[in-house]
Amino acid sequence: MISLPPMAANNEDRPCSLCGGGKHRLHFALNGNVFRRCRSCGLIKMAPLPERLAKGDDYAGYDLERQRQFTRLFFVPQYWRALRLIQRYKSGGRLLDVGCGTGEFLDLARQEGFLAFGIEPSERALFIARRSHPVAWGELNDISLKENFFDVVTLWSVLEHVIDPISFLRKVWLSLKKDGILGLRVPSSRGLLALSALWLHRLSAGKIKRPLKVIYQLEWHYKHFYYYDRKNIALLLEKCGFEILETYDESAYSISSLDFRMDYLPRSKALRTMLKAALFFNLHLSRLLRRQDELVIVAKKSGRPLSSP
Ligand SMILES: [Zn+2]
Repeated sequence: MISLPPMAANNEDRPCSLCGGGKHRLHFALNGNVFRRCRSCGLIKMAPLPERLAKGDDYAGYDLERQRQFTRLFFVPQYWRALRLIQRYKSGGRLLDVGCGTGEFLDLARQEGFLAFGIEPSERALFIARRSHPVAWGELNDISLKENFFDVVTLWSVLEHVIDPISFLRKVWLSLKKDGILGLRVPSSRGLLALSALWLHRLSAGKIKRPLKVIYQLEWHYKHFYYYDRKNIALLLEKCGFEILETYDESAYSISSLDFRMDYLPRSKALRTMLKAALFFNLHLSRLLRRQDELVIVAKKSGRPLSSP
């Protein structure tokens, strides 16, 4: 069995915790957040990472009903696409959605015959999800899970917020039955939107900060700590005992969902119109160039996970 250091290792001079490569380059530094890119595997990672996250709730002070409208408009069609793919490999059984929010994916899974469970750290979202589903409160790391119990585990927009993805995926691996299925969605480091924000920041000598802050969620409690591409996420999954079955790219937004996305963007009508036009262009170009902003993966539990470091 292979043993690896935890990915949360804070010393930025240490070899890449994913591939072992020794060389990194600065990706960007913004408001005390430094991101580096491994020259060998291309993993983009916040360095140093926080030791652990304090308790926090990104839904606090948020209009949750409006957020649910956005989820129904934008995420539910994406959830259906992913669920249909999962159903090619598992048509039923116990399904755990980690970071289930207000429970919309659990609704679909139950409708399709799964016995659906959730985990959610936001008390506000949990309150709504619990009206319809069994949902545990907290983070995966703080919750004890039965081994060989679930047929499917899903992580929609979760893994990029996790400080130590290896120990996190190891726990998911243990909770899955033999041949259990993992569904996950992460932002892509090749995504045109994140690259445009990066180059706006670089070309303006650091003056244009807002797009990077929004995309990396730097003002949120749950920031993005990692950006993956197809190769390095395949390496991560392989090292954690998973075999990839399906991968596809997806956009992180749609034109019809932009009014919701722009809730926290400029209030000026002219600026919003300009931004909509820029995002419309970006959306179509990213499809044309195959540089969409999210990666969706369906994988199967196989082999053995890593031993404890
Ligand atoms: Zn690396």
